Amino acid sequence: MIRDSYWLDMPYTPSDPLSGDLDVDVVVIGGGVTGVTGALFLAEGGARVAVLERREVASGATGRNGGFMLAGTHEYYAEAVEELTDLYGPDGRRLAREAWAIALENHDLMAGLMKKYDIRCDYYRHGSYVIAMKRPDRGSHRDPLERIVQSYKLLQEDGFDVEYLDEEKLYEIKRSPLLAGAIWNKFDGELHPVKYVRGLAGAASGLGVLFFENTPVAGVDRNDRGLLVHTPGGRIRTQHVLLGMNAYTPQLDTRYERRIIPHRGQVFTTEPVTERLFNGVFYANDGWDFWRQLHDGPGEGGRLLFGGGRNHHVRAERGFHFLRRRGRPIRTYRGYKERPTRAVQKSNDRAFNHAFPHLADLGRTHRWGGVMGFSYDSSPFVGETETPGVHIVAGFTGRGNAYATVAARMVSDRLLGRPSSVEDQFETVKKVFDPLRGGIDAENRRL
Ligand SMILES: Cc1cc2nc3c(=O)[nH]c(=O)nc-3n(C[C@H](O)[C@H](O)[C@H](O)COP(=O)(O)OP(=O)(O)OC[C@H]3O[C@@H](n4cnc5c(N)ncnc54)[C@H](O)[C@@H]3O)c2cc1C
Repeated sequence: MIRDSYWLDMPYTPSDPLSGDLDVDVVVIGGGVTGVTGALFLAEGGARVAVLERREVASGATGRNGGFMLAGTHEYYAEAVEELTDLYGPDGRRLAREAWAIALENHDLMAGLMKKYDIRCDYYRHGSYVIAMKRPDRGSHRDPLERIVQSYKLLQEDGFDVEYLDEEKLYEIKRSPLLAGAIWNKFDGELHPVKYVRGLAGAASGLGVLFFENTPVAGVDRNDRGLLVHTPGGRIRTQHVLLGMNAYTPQLDTRYERRIIPHRGQVFTTEPVTERLFNGVFYANDGWDFWRQLHDGPGEGGRLLFGGGRNHHVRAERGFHFLRRRGRPIRTYRGYKERPTRAVQKSNDRAFNHAFPHLADLGRTHRWGGVMGFSYDSSPFVGETETPGVHIVAGFTGRGNAYATVAARMVSDRLLGRPSSVEDQFETVKKVFDPLRGGIDAENRRL
C-alpha cells in the first residue's frame, strides 16, 4: 500500500530549478491547475512567463484531489442561495445562479483546452450525483433529502439540466441500500488531474513558458522598478506576479491568513475492479463523502476512489484555528501536512464499508491527503491584492476544478490588457470573488 497520491504514482522528470537572475513579464508562483492554466493563457496572449514551483508540477492539491468536475460551490444549491442572500441581500439568488453558471463555463474551458492541446486525461462527462443518505453522518444536515429536493427545484427553476432520482432509481445505479435520493447534475464530469495539468504544462512550455521546479519562492518585494521575486537559486524581475498557491498563500502573504484557511482532505483507492460499477461521480453527506470509479482498467473497469472522514476529525484536519483572547485574534497553527492519518483513513474505511458492504473486502492500493484552501463564503479570491502588480487566484474551498480555469482566464485577460470575457458575461464575479474581502470576523461568522 502506497501512502501517497495514486495520480502522482507515475514516472515524471521535473524541470531544473531556477539558477541565476531573469527578467519576464509575469511570474506565476505555484504549479497547480491555477498556476499552469494562468501561465498558458498568458503565453497564448504573447506574455513572457516563468512558473516557479516549490516541488513538482501538480504536487499540491491538484495532484491529490478526486478529479471531480462539479458545478457550483460546495454547498447544496438551496444553501448557497441562502448564504449569498445573507451576505449580499436580495441579489443572492442571482449570485448563486451565476456561481453555478461560471463553473459550467469553467468546465467548457477545461474541455476546450483538452481538445486544443490534445491532452488525454481520462475525461468523461457522465454527470454527478449529489446524494442524501438515509442516516446522515456527523456534521451533515439533519434532513438532507429536504435540502436535495429544495435544491433540485431551485436548480430547475434557474434553468439547469438536472434530474431528481428517488430511492428506487438510485438503488439501480448505486447498489447501496443507504441512499434516500439524489440530484443528477448531468453537466458534471471527471478527469485524471495530474495527466491534465502536466499536459497543460507541456502545452505551455511549447509556447515558451519557463518552468522551474523545486524552486520555492521566499518572498516578493516591490520597488519603483517593479517586483522582485526571490528564490534560493536566483531572482526574477517582473511587472506582475500571479499567486497560484491556493491553501499555501498565507505562507507567503500573511494578509491571507485570515482569508484562506487550510483544510486537509483524505482519500484512498482500491485495487481495480474488472466490472464497471459506477459511471459519474458521487457526492454524499453534504460532500463529506465522495467517490467514483476510475477508468484505468482492466477492460471497462477500474479502481474505486473514496474520500471523506473529515467530518469526524474537523479540528485535526484544519490547518489554523483562530481564537479570541482578551478581544484579540490569536492564530494557533497545525500546519499543512499532506500525509494520511490512521484516524481519518479508518473513518473513511468505515464509511465505504457501510455504504458498500459487498465491496468491503477490496484491498486498498493508495492512501493520501492534500491541503485545500477554504474561504469563509466558499468563493475564491480573484484579482489584484493590496500589493500593486501582485494578483491572486485562490480559496476554492474544495472546488478548484470548478473555478480555477475561469479565474485564471479573468486575471490573465486583465494582465494582457484586454476585455475579460468572464467579466463581460458574469458581472458579479467582481463582487463575489473580490480579492480583498473577508478576514477573521468573516471566518468566525462561518464557524
Ligand atoms: C482530497 C481532496 C479532494 C479534492 N477533490 C476535489 C474535486 O474532486 N474537485 C475539485 O474541484 N476540487 C477538489 N479539491 C480541491 C482542488 O484540488 C483544489 O481546489 C485545486 O487543486 C487548487 O489548485 P491550485 O493550483 O490553486 O493549488 P495547488 O494544487 O495546491 O497548487 C499550489 C502549488 O503552489 C506550490 N507552492 C506553495 N508555496 C510555494 C512557494 N513558496 N513557492 C513556489 N511554489 C509554492 C505548491 O507546491 C503547489 O504545487 C480536492 C482537494 C483535496 C485535497
